[in-house]
Amino acid sequence: MLGTVLYSPGDIRCEEVAEPEILQPTDAILKLAATCICGSDLWPYRGLQPLNGPMHMGHEYCGVVVEVGSAVKTVKPGQFVVGSFCCSDNTCPHCRFGFPSSCENREFMTRAQAPLLRVPLADGTLVATPYMPDEDLIPSLLAVSDVLGTGWYAADAARVRPGGTAVVVGDGAVGLMGVLAARQMGAEKIIAMSRHKSRQDLALEFGATHIVSERGDEGVARIRDLTDGVGAESVLECVGTQESMSQAIASARPGGSVGFVGVPHGVEIDGQQLFFAQKNLLGGPAPVRRFLPDLIDLVMTRKINPGKVFDLELPLQDVAEGYRAMDERRAIKTLLRLS
Ligand SMILES: [Zn+2]
Repeated sequence: MLGTVLYSPGDIRCEEVAEPEILQPTDAILKLAATCICGSDLWPYRGLQPLNGPMHMGHEYCGVVVEVGSAVKTVKPGQFVVGSFCCSDNTCPHCRFGFPSSCENREFMTRAQAPLLRVPLADGTLVATPYMPDEDLIPSLLAVSDVLGTGWYAADAARVRPGGTAVVVGDGAVGLMGVLAARQMGAEKIIAMSRHKSRQDLALEFGATHIVSERGDEGVARIRDLTDGVGAESVLECVGTQESMSQAIASARPGGSVGFVGVPHGVEIDGQQLFFAQKNLLGGPAPVRRFLPDLIDLVMTRKINPGKVFDLELPLQDVAEGYRAMDERRAIKTLLRLS
């Protein structure tokens, strides 16, 4: 079959790779309905994350179960399933506490930019839809797997509440999903920080009530203006740079919360400043498995349409163009067709 392999920064290829097989009795094999490129795939693509040899790419997926190992009990061949980018047993103390992305048996998904995928810990990782979804729901179910689940976690970690105020730092796909999540959680004022017209428009469509295009100190000053001079109670940090993290912390009011889901690259936080800031910080890889049942239900009942975040669709063979388009910010997020 075809699969996606990153050889060196900028050198991404679609080429013949081995088909996956059941390796453990807890594995399942899926025939994927579609797959996509993640903003985090751009870190190694841009050479900002070391590569130890060729890297098989892809960690967002949904599709039909075609085979299960002998120990798998909760999913069976023929079912349509969605899984997290983070495989988890769903039984260990961290999973039971709601943090499957810190599972004692955690494995990060890889090799999902391909037609067939092996999913470890299938019982803990996968959630089946109640019935076979209509074709037009595939992009939204795919979004649940990571980008929506991560935006949702940013809002959850930032303690977004009905009637509250949320600021979203970052207008990439995750930030836009953070806007959608804050809206679903009932925030009354949702301020999206974005400098790009097309992304501002999508943020407004997903539920933003205000747009702030300034950055840094000016951006923080605008947030103050919009929050009666006190700052926001909830801030979603969806980038992972020093500038975005500083901006997020400064935008929160004392006692407020920052949910940070952009993988930090070169971010440092001063302990004494943090002490006197009096703000809650919670971040990390999103515990998407915790949210899967609710998010699948919201998509299947057509209450949300996160699939709109995909603004470029290509066949898997053209994966290199998909990476280029996202790298050059011509596309927000690329969906890869598999048939
Ligand atoms: Zn676990």
